[in-house]
Amino acid sequence: MKSRTKVVVIGGGIAGCSTLYHLTQEGWTDVVLVERDELTSGTTWHSAAQVTNFGTNQTMVGLKSHSIKLYQDLAANPDYPINYHHGDGGIRLANTEAQMQGYRHFASMARGMDVHFEVIDAEECARRHPLISTENLIGGLWDPLDGDIDPAQLCQALARAARLAGAEVYRNTPVVGLTQHKDDTWTVQTEHGDIDCDIVVNACGYRVNEVGALMGVHHPVASMEHQYFLTEEIPAIRDAGHRMPLLRCPISDFYCRQEKNGLLLGFYEQGCKTWGMDGIDPNFVNALCPDDLDRVSDVLEGAFARMPALLEAGIHTIVNGPITYTIDGAPLVGPIPGKRNAFCIIGLRAGLGEGGGHGWLLAQQIVHGEACYDTWCLDPRRFTGHANVELTALKAVEDYQNEFRFHLPHEHRPAGRPAKTTALTPVLAAEGAEFTVVNGWERVDYIKPDPSFEPTLSFDFDETFDPIAAEVANVQSNVGLSEVNGFNRIEITGADRHAFLDRLFCGAVTRRDGRVGLGYLLNHHGMVKAEATVANLPASDRGPARVWYGSAAASEFHDMDWLKQNRHPDEDVHLRSLTNDCTILILAGPKSRDVLASCARGDWSPAAFPWLSVRECFVGFAPATVMAVSFSGELAYEIHVPNPSLYSAYLALRRAGERFGLKLFGARAIDSMRMEKTFLHWKADLITEFDPFETGLNRFVRLEKGDFIGRDALLNRDADGPRRKLVPLRLETGQGPAHAGASLMMGDTVVGTITSGEWGHRTGLNLAHGFVDPSLAEIGCKIELDHCGKRVNATVIAPSPYDPDHSRLRA
Ligand SMILES: Cc1cc2nc3c(=O)[nH]c(=O)nc-3n(C[C@H](O)[C@H](O)[C@H](O)COP(=O)(O)OP(=O)(O)OC[C@H]3O[C@@H](n4cnc5c(N)ncnc54)[C@H](O)[C@@H]3O)c2cc1C
Repeated sequence: MKSRTKVVVIGGGIAGCSTLYHLTQEGWTDVVLVERDELTSGTTWHSAAQVTNFGTNQTMVGLKSHSIKLYQDLAANPDYPINYHHGDGGIRLANTEAQMQGYRHFASMARGMDVHFEVIDAEECARRHPLISTENLIGGLWDPLDGDIDPAQLCQALARAARLAGAEVYRNTPVVGLTQHKDDTWTVQTEHGDIDCDIVVNACGYRVNEVGALMGVHHPVASMEHQYFLTEEIPAIRDAGHRMPLLRCPISDFYCRQEKNGLLLGFYEQGCKTWGMDGIDPNFVNALCPDDLDRVSDVLEGAFARMPALLEAGIHTIVNGPITYTIDGAPLVGPIPGKRNAFCIIGLRAGLGEGGGHGWLLAQQIVHGEACYDTWCLDPRRFTGHANVELTALKAVEDYQNEFRFHLPHEHRPAGRPAKTTALTPVLAAEGAEFTVVNGWERVDYIKPDPSFEPTLSFDFDETFDPIAAEVANVQSNVGLSEVNGFNRIEITGADRHAFLDRLFCGAVTRRDGRVGLGYLLNHHGMVKAEATVANLPASDRGPARVWYGSAAASEFHDMDWLKQNRHPDEDVHLRSLTNDCTILILAGPKSRDVLASCARGDWSPAAFPWLSVRECFVGFAPATVMAVSFSGELAYEIHVPNPSLYSAYLALRRAGERFGLKLFGARAIDSMRMEKTFLHWKADLITEFDPFETGLNRFVRLEKGDFIGRDALLNRDADGPRRKLVPLRLETGQGPAHAGASLMMGDTVVGTITSGEWGHRTGLNLAHGFVDPSLAEIGCKIELDHCGKRVNATVIAPSPYDPDHSRLRA
């Protein structure tokens, strides 16, 4: 066994084998995989091993396409052929119009990744899968590339290819300890000796937290028992003359594929069970949980009704095994939060289909610091302090019970809520607030017009349209109040704080006390990494001179990791998170200054406190830090209040606001207004796949200011010209907003992708942002949007269709 290597991958299931293989493909061949037992002795050996192309965003579709291509190549290797039934096709069924509309949107989205799904009616479903009944069926989504693979052969093929490239695999070598050294390298202790390495990767499947504990980490991953059975031969299949396509049924919660001349049927029953919550028997190796077909009787009935041929088929094998879940159903693939040189590829619930792609994206992150796609939807840092196994188990049960029912726009399911609240949450609930969830925080989405209000979940505009319009109208003409909890706030102190920020931001960083600036951080490839405000607070009785770095709630762990990683050891820079200590109250609208002046002493006139100012004060008697910044495009103030004083500040503002027509507003109204100002959202419009010029952030880049992270890459990229340009668009439809991922078309050619969309209530425009081919980025260019299967005209418009000279927010 080697005593030193570059990377140790722990775990020899599909996740570990794929990571090892892809590290060698990226050129790192001094790498090792250690496996406690034999390869594939965790979940992988008994997987139903279906390989599908479907995903609900472009990253998922792209990584699955990579799996499919890789598995085809491996299967075609004459030296080590493997069984891969590629291209049997597959159908996701639907019995509601909302599901069909979703499929049409996903087909539009996938087209941008050169993946061609088809939305078909019930008769066509039955024609392609002759065993199904069309009872209670509207149609489905056809995925032509679906198939299944032999999981053990796949892992052996990946390990073999990695070994041929120089990697080593040590079987029967349990990892029993992990030690990190001062220089951030690791020693991996195994039962057969130690291995020193630069980087460790946790790929331990359902044992993820046994290995996580060795490095003091608690991963939000929980396991569920999951069952399928194999039938005896079914004559209709034997005689069909072609293989049956895969089937996924959100109506009766089962999936199925052909296995020899019979079927493999897997179930997602309502009475599902978590597994291994109180520890896992160390001897659970190549093992299964006891069968329990009674538990799936609810879904069995539906499966029999959908495929009557099953009634005649005997069952010859039942498989019940653990499968891992996370809080949102997507795996955790990337850097482990708060750790250096430590990565994970865990929580895979469809690991056979996805594993090839996940290993590919992880290896890129390890070797290059970033992958070719924005991997936020997989990033372990997307969950923060609220994430634990207890919460994950609740979400896993909910997810399992809804396995094939994707979330509709604005759908937030109830399990595991509320996770993070403030003192205002029950107060706002009593005011009729409907909440959305942002990084675990319950955040006001909109105020319901009456307590029984329940809008239809849909890809179209729905009954929330009018209440949101009313909130916007009040902000536009009077003043609105909104709570933004969980906003990421990092206090930066120390003499080198500005020099440090100068190195991280690609533009000018204001150093003036009492001033606020907005800026962008790039990665080493010159791509957009983060967006943040920098507010300079002079020394006061509340603390020394300091910067408040503010960014999106979801970026809490992400941004802190980035700042810490890029702080030099000799720099006088101290970072302290205030995210969970403070909450923002937003006061927005032309009368917001009047409200503020009525409850906070001081001169709030435009001359004394202009746009982009920051000042400490008291709101009523609650200590507060006020910033004159606006995401709505109206005159607005962010009022940062320590959580113990939040209710007090809220009461002061509400009382002061009474005579100015103050009303509450929520995140949906903010989203509508920010679209009208062409203000961008992190991880919707701002992603690591594009540089700041492509993203339209030219005015925030100062190449001449000297060195900053990403500058060299940007200089080189600049010479190539943009690949895409982010533009604001006006859509000619009143049916629904544009949905992220939807394809922009010229004829049959995809020329762009939507990043966000919402109705602009002040302008009366259906607005969207999208990355388009640079030749189509001129104002006035006409494009078409594939809007849930319908072609809709889209026109590139000038930025900020509402108040283009920004006079209202500077008022
Ligand atoms: C019944 C069932 C059906 C499924 N069907 C499908 C399907 O059709 N399609 C699909 O895509 N997915 C399917 N899945 C899911 C898929 O099988 C899993 O997502 C995938 O196998 C997970 O692989 P993994 O490598 O993450 O975990 P595992 O396969 O569990 O591998 C983890 C490895 O880590 C090793 N390990 C643990 N601790 C240590 C240690 N201390 N030291 C060294 N090694 C250690 C383990 O021994 C194990 O080999 C199914 C799952 C189940 C249960």
